[in-house]
Order: sequence, then C-alpha cells, then structure tokens
Amino acid sequence: MANLLRNIVPSIARASKSLQIPASRCFSTQSTLLCERKEGAQSDSMMDIGCRSIFNSDHDIFRTSCRKFCQEEIVPHHEKWEENGQVSRELWLKAGEAGLLGTDTPAEHGGIGGDFKDAAIIMEELMYVNCSGPGFPLHSQIVMPYITHYGTTDQIEKFIPDMVAGKKIGAIAMTEPGAGSDLQGVATNARRDGDDWILNGSKTFITNGYMADVVIVVAVTKPEAKSRAHGISLFLVEEGMKGFNKGRKLKKMGMKAQDTAELFFEDVRLPATALLGKENHGFYGLMQELPQERLLIGVMSTANCEWQFETTREYVKQRKAFGKTLSNLQTIQHKLAELKTKISVTRAFTDQCIELHNKGKLDGAMASMNKYWSSDMQNQVAYDCVQMHGGWGYMSEYPISKAYVDARVQSIYGGANEIMKELIARTIVA
Ligand SMILES: Cc1cc2nc3c(=O)[nH]c(=O)nc-3n(C[C@H](O)[C@H](O)[C@H](O)COP(=O)(O)OP(=O)(O)OC[C@H]3O[C@@H](n4cnc5c(N)ncnc54)[C@H](O)[C@@H]3O)c2cc1C
Repeated sequence: MANLLRNIVPSIARASKSLQIPASRCFSTQSTLLCERKEGAQSDSMMDIGCRSIFNSDHDIFRTSCRKFCQEEIVPHHEKWEENGQVSRELWLKAGEAGLLGTDTPAEHGGIGGDFKDAAIIMEELMYVNCSGPGFPLHSQIVMPYITHYGTTDQIEKFIPDMVAGKKIGAIAMTEPGAGSDLQGVATNARRDGDDWILNGSKTFITNGYMADVVIVVAVTKPEAKSRAHGISLFLVEEGMKGFNKGRKLKKMGMKAQDTAELFFEDVRLPATALLGKENHGFYGLMQELPQERLLIGVMSTANCEWQFETTREYVKQRKAFGKTLSNLQTIQHKLAELKTKISVTRAFTDQCIELHNKGKLDGAMASMNKYWSSDMQNQVAYDCVQMHGGWGYMSEYPISKAYVDARVQSIYGGANEIMKELIARTIVA
C-alpha cells in the first residue's frame, strides 16, 4: 500500500479535508486514518467515497485518485473509443503512470504491491463512470497473475514491468469458434519440434485481443492424454511472431470501446521459453485462476448496479410528469426501494467475497455464486432502470442505454451462468 500511495495525497489532514470527513470522526494511527464507516446503503450515494467497512482511509485516498483519473482520462474520450472499437495506447501508458495496472501484483515481481481490495477499487471506479472500454482488469487481474504464478523468473522480468507500465497489453485466449463453455473441447494445438513448439489453431472473442502485445494461449500439447484436462498447456505468444495474425475487431451489441478479436495461429514457431508453467498442466492453472476472473465480474456487476441506481434516482427526481416529478409517483418510489434493497444485499455478498479473497480464503463455489448472482442482478437492474427512463432510456445518447447493452454479456462470459450453477451444485451434492 505504501508503494501504491507514493504519488497520492500523503497527509492525513489533507485526506480528511479532500474526502470531506469531519475531523471529529477521524483519528490517526501510525499509517492510517481511521473513521467510522457507513455501509453503501446508509450513505447519501451508494458510490460515496469513505463508506463500506471492508475499506479504510488509505483505500479512500486511492479511490479518490482513481475517480479523478476516470473523470479526466476516460470519460471525455469514451465516445470516440466506442466509435473506434478500442481505447487508445496513450490511455494504457497513462494508467501505467498512475499506478492503475498491476496494482495487486507483488512489488518483488515488478508490480505496485497493493492487494485485491485496491484492484477492486479500480474495477468499481470504471463502473462508476459507466465506461467498459479499458480492459485493465483482464490485463491486471487475469493475465498478469498467470505470469507471476506460473512464469519463470525470466518470463516475469520480461513481461511484468512493461505490463505494469502499460507498454505491453495482455490478453488470454481460451475460447475457440467450436469450444467455449467446454474448454476441454479446444482444438488449437502445439507440437514439439526440437526445443521449439509449433502452434496451430484459432481463438475468438478475445478481450484486448486486437491491441494485445502478449497473449496467453491455451493449446493441446498431448492429444493422446486420457482426457484433455491432462494434455493442455499455456503459451505466451507475442505480437509480431511469424504466423500469428489478428482478425477483425468484432462488432458487438455492447462494450463497444473494448476491443474483442479473433486470433489465428499458423505454424507459429515458439521457443521453449514461451511455455508458461509445466507442460500439460495448463488446465490445472486455468482451474486455479478462474475463480478470480469470476469475482472480477461480480465486483464490476455490483458496482454497475450502484451506478445505474444513482443515475436513475437523479433522472426520476428531475423528470416531470403529471405536474410533478416521476419520483413523486408511488410506483417509482417502490421500484427504487426494491432496487436499493436488492443491490444492497448483492453489495453485502460481494464485499464479503472481496474480503475473503483478499485473505486467500474465497473458494471457487463462492466466486461462482457471486458471478452468477451479481451479473443476473446487473441485468435485472438495467431492465428496471431503462424502464424508469421511458423512451429516453432507449436512446443511445442516454448512458443508461449503454449500461443495458453492456450488462448483457456479464452473464455469458467468464463461464456462462449456467456453468456457474453446475460448479456450485457440484459442491452441494458431492
Ligand atoms: C465480449 C466477450 C468477451 C470475451 N472475452 C474472452 C476472452 O478474453 N478470452 C476468452 O478465452 N474468451 C472470451 N470470451 C468467450 C466467453 O468466455 C464464452 O463466450 C463463454 O464461455 C461461453 O462460451 P460459448 O460462447 O462458446 O457458448 P456455448 O458454450 O456454446 O454455450 C451457449 C449457452 O449454452 C448454455 N450452456 C452451455 N453449456 C452448458 C451446460 N453444461 N449446462 C447448461 N447450459 C449450458 C449456456 O447458456 C451458454 O451461454 C468472451 C466473450 C464475449 C462475448
């Protein structure tokens, strides 16, 4: 955390002032500012800085700087990025400079040295401006952990510092045209040729795929294994390698500023040093890392529910109908009451999962429950919030319309919610 805060408001007094926390509610220990903390449901806005008991004042300071970054460096450009189907390279470099990439990657590996709560703050702040373009969470909390957990010292030194700086963008390629939910169905394969590997196949729907400088590719390395789970390996494939080609940026219903691409591998010669982790142990690695991917989706879904709620609350308070504002109608008030209750329940569960994960105690079933519950909730909230916006909610110029289409994929990727239920059920009836 000390590393994380090195460029951010260092003094307790200034923090207290900038966060508008009354001095009487704050007292200092050697390194932190401790305050009574309300939960989000008790705060004026569910997105208020300084609420939620899982966080402390250091987190608030970090959140303040993330919020400023999102407002200044993301919001003004997002519409242009939606037209372009990708964010800019410059944004990645600025995010690197601001300490928003690899935030929870250990400092000894070249990361910022924060924890998962710090990472969650960045995800939440992206959702609190309703901007889905920057693929920072996938880069930092999905791709980088594979490299730090399974990579050699050389691989870590080669990729992590540049990924933290935003100079190299990461992606992970599991899904293929014929294999999504059933990962064991992948056909992309790598065969040995002396010390090298020869990679062939294709991947689709790959987030950050178009901009990626390094892609973790899931490939079959032992087709004769008793099951695919015992014959899959992971490879680090780099932009510019002969035979590695990127297809078009895929046009999507939502998340239009996030690049999603097809990738093609035609006799790509990979050195032995491109193998990530042990040969034929790739499936084990995937199973280890997927719970964090699922929690990421839960964290972002929950935060986006809060943003949708607050945006809609503001809208109904100013929209006139029948001589009053919409917020005067009891049906609207009850709908807001229902939504706030449902979102607060979801928030409590998500915060519990963040807390557990931060201590290394979140299990796969809980991560799956959180992904399934929060992403379904995000879609339900989006439906109701568009409804309360009326026809304007259907217009692209209204941000709630973007939130509606962005929400749809949350229950599909990272493992479809039907698969989440399978995983949860296994732990119930096993
Ligand atoms: C915008 C976007 C970004 C993505 N980013 C990435 C990425 O970065 N890397 C990557 O590797 N992949 C990525 N994906 C792929 C994503 O993870 C898959 O789309 C997802 O896992 C579902 O696989 P599928 O599309 O092949 O659907 P299918 O496997 O064909 O499943 C279709 C539907 O059938 C149902 N279903 C399937 N199996 C079962 C079952 N056993 N029981 C009950 N119901 C079932 C589910 O409802 C499922 O949604 C992305 C997808 C999208 C849309």
